[in-house]
Amino acid sequence: MIKLQGIAAAPGIVVGKAYRIGKEEFDIPKKEISQQDIPYEIQLFEEALIKTRKEIIELQKRIAVDMGQEQAQIFDAHLLVLEDRMLIEEVISRLKKERFNVAFIFFEVMKKYVEVFSRIEDEYIKERISDINDVSKRVMRNLLGKKGKWLEGLTEKVIVVAHDLSPSDTAAMHKQNVSAFVTDIGGKTSHTAIMAKSLEIPAVVGTETATSKIKNGDMLIVDGSTGIVILEPDQDTLAEYQEEFRKLQGIGEKFLSVKDLDAVTQDGKCVEIHANIELPEEIPAVKAHGAKGIGLYRTEFFYMNRKDLPSEEEHYQAYKYVAEEMKPYPVTIRTIDLGGDKFLSQFAIPREMQPFLGWRAIRFCLARTDIFKVQLRAILRASVHGSLRLMYPMISGIEELRQANRILQEARDELKSEGAPFSDNIEVGVMIEVPSAAITADLLSREADFFSIGTNDLIQYSLAVDRTNEKVAYLYEPSHPAVLRMIQSVISAAHERGIKVGMCGEMAGDPAFVPLLLGLGLDEFSMPSLGIPEVKYIIRSLNLDEAKEFARRVLSLSTGREVEEFGQKKLREITG
Ligand code: PEP
Ligand code: MG
Repeated sequence: MIKLQGIAAAPGIVVGKAYRIGKEEFDIPKKEISQQDIPYEIQLFEEALIKTRKEIIELQKRIAVDMGQEQAQIFDAHLLVLEDRMLIEEVISRLKKERFNVAFIFFEVMKKYVEVFSRIEDEYIKERISDINDVSKRVMRNLLGKKGKWLEGLTEKVIVVAHDLSPSDTAAMHKQNVSAFVTDIGGKTSHTAIMAKSLEIPAVVGTETATSKIKNGDMLIVDGSTGIVILEPDQDTLAEYQEEFRKLQGIGEKFLSVKDLDAVTQDGKCVEIHANIELPEEIPAVKAHGAKGIGLYRTEFFYMNRKDLPSEEEHYQAYKYVAEEMKPYPVTIRTIDLGGDKFLSQFAIPREMQPFLGWRAIRFCLARTDIFKVQLRAILRASVHGSLRLMYPMISGIEELRQANRILQEARDELKSEGAPFSDNIEVGVMIEVPSAAITADLLSREADFFSIGTNDLIQYSLAVDRTNEKVAYLYEPSHPAVLRMIQSVISAAHERGIKVGMCGEMAGDPAFVPLLLGLGLDEFSMPSLGIPEVKYIIRSLNLDEAKEFARRVLSLSTGREVEEFGQKKLREITG
């Protein structure tokens, strides 16, 4: 039995068999072939090259339209790799000589190329390595007949074990036979972890060694609440976890008993409890957990796991559906926040040294107003079907808010001249997730209808800690006094202007912070729907005055650890 300690990413205890995924997204089969098979394998190779070439040319065309010729030219290098005679001949001659399947030979040849290129001290050549890797993955997918959909075809429930998973990989697990997952890298507020919570897939990230210790088919216990993974558990441990599982179910039932009630304190203060969603498919779970609105709809996932851009009509249909389903409750649509750890295949966004500080979210939208406007028009059109609100991510100052609002106004003008109906009074809010926005919240509050504090980013930017990096996860402290002071000052700036403040970062759904946030005057808590019943239970057990006094004492503490302990103690008093 081996115990691995990772980072608790999404709660739940699961016992099951491991399903290892290689770094390449596919395991390369190695099969000996006979002399007669050689022509067939060569044909497979040629077909895969032709197919890949077609795909790249199509992609290039789309990018030329969406982003301009210059970006499209990036793919010329990919085409050159595909047409490299030396490479093709080497694959064919090794295939004839060594007599293994072409996928295996191709993989070996590409590996050798990458090794040789990596040894050359030339920046230009080094940069070509990523082109080679990219092209070889595409060819490999075509050779193996896979479109990167490595999850399809799983016939029994498994626990996925991978070095890393992208948020779109996690989204693809939805409805597949995946009961939990474990990764080597990643942090608690990475979008991979957030997606797992939303889809209620128990997960442990950042174990560092899972893929080197766990083999395909190994028996595992995954505890997504503590971050523990147990490999080949003994009978006693198994029984212990089964007992823990039953206990958790019991506690869950206690919380579920209040899920449909209002989040009102003992002395009558009512706050809003909303859900965060990434996909419209989550609506039934949102309702089942008693959310009275959507505080954050992360629309960028709409662009993932597909080759083309969603049209205005597709956006509109999705927003209309969510608005109608949630009526009369509000739905807060966040305009696309791509970049950071969310890369969309449709845009050839160059890999950046500091993606979280780079061309992301509103910055991307303000540069690509054509793409931005498609979404804004759809949101406006859908606003007649329910109570929609709109908010912009990653605003760093008032100028960006004004620019975004100008484009929104253009969208309104266009719709008006087309005679398309839309609601005139849609609220427009600002996410407070960049320290400069938090510090100038008084200025922003003059031109925003509401605020929503995005603590996932606000913490990473104010403490200078990459939210996806397990190595610095110990520094990622929502309880840090600097974070608490920022939250406090944002809430008071907003309240001075009479606008409401919500929080949609993971901190809002962390039970240990609920008394503090309530005491600081937060108006709306938005979280993955799974956490809603417990948060309601906590709020319903508190008095507002007691929470205010608690917040005052917490703010006088000087370390994150003290704050954390104080919060945990209070939580134990409330939930037992
Ligand atoms: C946040 O930053 O807290 C937030 C809610 O946005 P995201 O997690 O999508 O960056
Ligand atoms: Mg954010």
